[in-house]
Amino acid sequence: MKSIQKYDVIIIGAGAAGLMSAIEAGKRGRKVLLLDHSRKIGEKIRISGGGRCNFTNTNTHPSKFISKNPNFVISALNQYTQNDFIDLIKKHNIEFHEKKLGQLFCDGSAQQIIDMLLSECEMAKVILRKGMVVENIDKQGDQYFIDANSEKYSCESLVIATGGLSVPKIGASKFGYEIAKKFNLNVIETLPALVPLTFNEKILTMCRELSGLSLAAIVSFNKTIFEEGMLFTHRGLSGPSILQISSYWKLGSNIKINLSPDLDIHKFLEDRKKSNPKQEINTIIAEILPKRLAHMICKENDVSGNISELPNKILKELSDAINAWVIKPIGSEGYRTAEVTLGGIDTNEISSKTMMSIKNPGLFFIGEVVDVTGHLGGYNFQWAWSSGYVAGQYS
Ligand SMILES: Cc1cc2nc3c(=O)[nH]c(=O)nc-3n(C[C@H](O)[C@H](O)[C@H](O)COP(=O)(O)OP(=O)(O)OC[C@H]3O[C@@H](n4cnc5c(N)ncnc54)[C@H](O)[C@@H]3O)c2cc1C
Repeated sequence: MKSIQKYDVIIIGAGAAGLMSAIEAGKRGRKVLLLDHSRKIGEKIRISGGGRCNFTNTNTHPSKFISKNPNFVISALNQYTQNDFIDLIKKHNIEFHEKKLGQLFCDGSAQQIIDMLLSECEMAKVILRKGMVVENIDKQGDQYFIDANSEKYSCESLVIATGGLSVPKIGASKFGYEIAKKFNLNVIETLPALVPLTFNEKILTMCRELSGLSLAAIVSFNKTIFEEGMLFTHRGLSGPSILQISSYWKLGSNIKINLSPDLDIHKFLEDRKKSNPKQEINTIIAEILPKRLAHMICKENDVSGNISELPNKILKELSDAINAWVIKPIGSEGYRTAEVTLGGIDTNEISSKTMMSIKNPGLFFIGEVVDVTGHLGGYNFQWAWSSGYVAGQYS
């Protein structure tokens, strides 16, 4: 029989949260094993932020996170702040810049973040094993036993950092949720989030014709509002404002889009009718919106001719189609393109101070596998760093 390899801490999942947790536990002198089933480490970091990794946000605040318990994130975000991560970046001489809205990106490449985390792991004497398939996990007494690649391991603290379900082709799996269920922890229903939305044939045809066109828009669902860029694609709607609202939108409901956030179109058209009654409506709308979109909206609303010929009721309908376009998505592009997963391990099951399971001492959950989802803009990585740091202090 093979002998059991003993560690103080075993972390499953060497993504953002797992790497951070391993570094911190290692720095405390714990004997740490970090396992991943992938052969490439930090793939999500590598592809993030268009290859430049939006690694945190200077505006990090609990209000930027979605969870059944909105207060859950407070402790971890206070224990390890965005400034702590920025200090780490500076220590490694990684150049960075703010793109917009407090979003910090590497000047160079996301690989710099991966290299930084791996070098910190090395300094903290973390043992990293890639291509490890975990076959079984059990608890006996106060020890956890792990079977992986036909080897046996044991540890006092087991940290689950296997992330969410988004982008399965780079290693996402439901492993974390299954382990939670095995240890009798509740899992909140998961859904793709920060994901492009899809539409019925009529709107889809419009989107296809406008594919590639982007503009600033206010997108809202009930009282939740985002004002950022929006993009028409050959599959539907995307861009930051759509990705953001996708985390709140509920199947069967409408979203509202203001395609001209800075202008009250109805008032503008009334004024124009008085000042230049002979002007063609298509030309007027093209002053406000990109030409292709202007023509499409006039066509869809069946308006043409001089503005003087259009009754006020028609002008109001046209204005609403621009300032308050109400549409019903039929779904999303799903986990294939979603940046994150909504839902996950119920935060009622975990201590917000330590990230340890309340029912199972020694078992920790960190990062995206937990029911915490950040807005777009570096918040998801900050959650991975903060929750990883916390588990690193207590595991
Ligand atoms: C295209 C894209 C772009 C993004 N851009 C940004 C951005 O710029 N800023 C931002 O804040 N967030 C961004 N995100 C979100 C961010 O990447 C995640 O929220 C973050 O990586 C979550 O960290 P994690 O450690 O919890 O999970 P992950 O980083 O997903 O790591 C989980 C790890 O667990 C491993 N694993 C999974 N199952 C198993 C198993 N059964 N056995 C062993 N190992 C396993 C995986 O291989 C992986 O290495 C982006 C996401 C995507 C998909």
